[in-house]
Order: sequence, then C-alpha cells, then structure tokens
Amino acid sequence: MTSTPTADATIVVRNPANDSVVGSVADTSSAAVAEVIASLRAHQPHWESLGPTGRSKVLFALQDWILDNARQLADVVQSESGKVRAEAELEVTAWVDLISYWGRKAEKFLADEHPAPHSPLGRIKKLTTWYRPYSVVGVITPWNYPLAMGAMDIVPALMAGAAVLHKPSEVTPLSAVEIARGWAEVGAPPVFTVVTGGASAGAAVVEEVDFLQFTGSTPTGRIIARRRAETFKPYSLELGGKDPAIVLADADLDRAAHGIAWGALLNAGQTCVSIERVYVEAPVYDAFIAKLTEQVESLRVGRDDREFRYDVGALANQQQLEIVSRHVDEAVAAGARVLTGGKPTGIGTFFEPTVLVDVDHSMSCIREETFGPTIPVIEVADEDEAVLLANDSEYGLSASIWTGDRKRGHRVARRLDAGAVNINDSIANVFNFVLPMGGWKQSGIGSRWGGAAGIRKYCRQQALTEPAVLTIPREVYWFPYSKGKSGFAFTLVRGLGARGRRRLG
Ligand code: NAD
Repeated sequence: MTSTPTADATIVVRNPANDSVVGSVADTSSAAVAEVIASLRAHQPHWESLGPTGRSKVLFALQDWILDNARQLADVVQSESGKVRAEAELEVTAWVDLISYWGRKAEKFLADEHPAPHSPLGRIKKLTTWYRPYSVVGVITPWNYPLAMGAMDIVPALMAGAAVLHKPSEVTPLSAVEIARGWAEVGAPPVFTVVTGGASAGAAVVEEVDFLQFTGSTPTGRIIARRRAETFKPYSLELGGKDPAIVLADADLDRAAHGIAWGALLNAGQTCVSIERVYVEAPVYDAFIAKLTEQVESLRVGRDDREFRYDVGALANQQQLEIVSRHVDEAVAAGARVLTGGKPTGIGTFFEPTVLVDVDHSMSCIREETFGPTIPVIEVADEDEAVLLANDSEYGLSASIWTGDRKRGHRVARRLDAGAVNINDSIANVFNFVLPMGGWKQSGIGSRWGGAAGIRKYCRQQALTEPAVLTIPREVYWFPYSKGKSGFAFTLVRGLGARGRRRLG
C-alpha cells in the first residue's frame, strides 16, 4: 500500500457503544487524493500484466494474513461500530470467502472469447472479445459493515486487474486501514490504497477515478451520479432500501417470525437489505404478531466484546439513534402501538428492538429508510394487497416472501419490484456471489456480483476482428461500388432472411 499522504485535518473515531475514543485518522485533502490516484495509475499496468493467476497469488497472501489476524480485525470492527461479536466476526469471513471465490474464478471469467458470427456471411472474420480493466477503480463505502462492505467490491476490482482506491466512511475508517496494513505486510504491489476522510475526500475520489463503485445513501448517490454524468465517467451505485417481507397465510409462522426478526434486526437493523416493513395476510396476523413479539423480546441487547453474549449491538452514531427514535415517536403519535421495545436503552446508542403495529403507509417508519431495530407490521387482506403495498415505495432493493407453497412464492416474487427476492429466508441472496446484487428504482444503478458479470464490470470489453483464414486483396464491400457487387450481397442477405418464395426473388 502507498502511504496516506499528509492531510489537512484529523477525524476522531468513537465507539458508539460507550462513546469512548478508539482512534483517529486523517481527513485527506482533495489534492492528496489526486496524488494517490496518480500513483495508483502509474502502478496499475504492472498489476494488470500479472494476469489473474499472478494477482490471485497476492490476494491469497492477503487472505492468509486476514485469517492470521482474524480476532484482532474483529476487535477493530467492534471498537468503531459497537456491533456484537458474532456480527464482527462475520465481517472477517466475508473477506475470506470473497477472495476464495474471485481468486479462483477470475481466470475463467476474464478469458478471451471467440463468439460465432451472427450470420454465415460473417465467417470471413475471426472474432474475439477480451476484457481490459479500468486503470483506477474508486470504492466508497458506508459505515454499516466497516470491514465487509469494502471487500464486496475491492476484491473483484483488484482481481479484474484494476488498481483500487478505497474511501471508507469517516464514521468507521479503522477497519479499512487495517486491511491496508495487511496489504503492505504481505508485500503486495502498491495498487491498493485506503484514503480516509469525509465527503470532500469522497468527492475528490468521484472526480478522479476511472470507474466508481459507491455504496451509501440515495441522496449521496444522486450527487455522485450527477457529477459522474458531467464528466462522462462510468459508475455503479448500491443505495438505500426499505425491504418488505410478505407473510402469506400458508407460511410456517415459527420460521417466519424467527427469520423476519433476524432479517430486520441483524446488525441492529443497519443493513441495506434489512427487512423494514412486514405485510401479513389477515388469517394469520394475530398468531404471527404474537410469535414475532415473543422472538424479539427474547433478544439480548448490549456490548459483548469477545464473548458472544448478545444478539443486538449499538447503532452507529447519535444521528442514527435520532432517526430511529423519530420514526418510532412519529408512528406512536399518529396512532401506532409498540408491542415491545420502542425507545433508546439509555446506554450509548443502543435502541430496544421494537415491534410496531397499527401503522399505515403514510408514516415515516414505512416511507423512509429507518436503518434501525424496528419492525413495523401491517395486516393485509390478501396477496394482491400485500404486493400493492410492498411495491408502494421509492426503493426496490430486496424482499422476502414467507409461504408453504413454492409456486405461490414464485408468482408473488415475479410481481415485486425488487432486485432480489428470498423465499422463506431473509438476506440470503447476499451470501451468494453468483447472484447479482443490485437495487431497482431509487435503490441503485447497476449491480455487484452475479458470477462473471461481477468482475467484468471493472473492465471494458474490447472487440477484435481479423481475417479468418485468407487475407484477400480487397473486401467485397469496399470501393468501388457496383450494381453487381451490391446485388450479390443483397441476394445473400435476402436468402438468409426472407420468408416465402415471393421475397426470395
Ligand atoms: P452516506 O451516503 O452518508 O455515506 C456513504 C459514503 O459516501 C461515506 O464514505 C461518505 O463519506 C461518502 N460521501 C458522503 N458525501 C459524499 C460526496 N458528496 N461525494 C462522495 N462521497 C461522499 O451513507 P451512510 O450513512 O454512510 O450509509 C448508510 C446508507 O448506505 C444507507 O442508506 C444504506 O441503505 C446504504 N447501504 C447500501 C448498501 C447496498 O448494497 N445497496 C449497502 C450498505 C449500505
């Protein structure tokens, strides 16, 4: 890794679980970001020349380093996010799993291809496509998964042959800095750098990189899309969500209550694909609510360091706590009822896991992204009403359907406006790198992963033609034109396309 250059100011990092100071990083200036990018650009051609096998050796060395330092990495994640141990360790495994997948598959996904010509007339040419990486890919990430979120895009971009600049959230930058330390310790080439800082450092990244991968809120995504459009540079956006869960009357209610509690409260509800709204068919509404409330009440909330004692951790910062509190308070003021939870615990930024009922579609807890441990539940008459309400959102990231009937599940899934649908599970699509993960509507543009597409997105596809066998002196379609040559060509194309004898002659 190249070292982070001299910066203008310092950002103090706190543990939201107890407000203690856990570190500080540079707020990198725009000029310094530009310098780092110039250095990455200079080193990228060598990285590209190593090919997928050479690059995977480096990534596998980093994977070894991550495994050797797993406990300490989880400590850093916890220290700056306040999340529980199980969820911090999950972030470490994400790096390991992503390197295993992209490190092994890159060669196949990036191999040259020789597509067959679309018509027999095209056989005079040999056709080839190959993938050439962007020089520098910028990866900007939010604070909810300080370690894992970067890995999701950094690993495939590096394996594609691009140099990568990571700008983590100013709220949780320390985990990313650890990965940069690992990169340096394994002696990897200087084609991966972390720059720390806030919005202005992020804006400098947006300005300079050849491809931008952004994960974060929809408002920031909109600012970035405008800027990239002005400079005519490609980008991909993974943005906010308001994921619905639909519980149909034939569902296994125990599984649904368990799975929805987890899907809504994983990472204290701060997951882009968190369940944030639940629609339950009338015949099972009361039974489901009772089971869900029991499930949520049983969860243990607190700070556990290395001890795996709790299920739900802290919110990322005070601002997040305020949003969650406002959504619950506004719902209650408008007539909603809290079945369990409903307020901050009074320690750090912890908020009690909350089930809300008697909510309607005008409330902020249904319309806005909450990103917290709340589960608003709405009773619906039938499948049609569930689909109508589920689609009544500006977001379309993912959704879940809980049913005992697979066919019915598929039928409902095809009617949902969301980038992914999980049947009888929450968030499961995110654990499958062969599937595309992308948001519809205001939840994003483009997608990550999806097998080969996930690495090829960091490349430009180049097309090549060359004579198939013989190089003839002149192609038929070159000058000079003549009636005979045109007629010959038209007869051949007509012969291939015409239906009916009349059109042949
Ligand atoms: P945010 O948009 O405030 O910040 C995200 C990142 O963008 C940070 O690194 C920040 O410093 C940077 N940034 C801020 N302003 C910028 C600018 N003008 N130019 C460039 N960079 C800028 O988001 P957040 O509050 O950190 O994260 C929460 C959001 O992230 C939620 O909306 C959540 O749904 C979303 N998210 C989406 C996914 C997904 O895959 N779709 C995954 C995780 C989180």
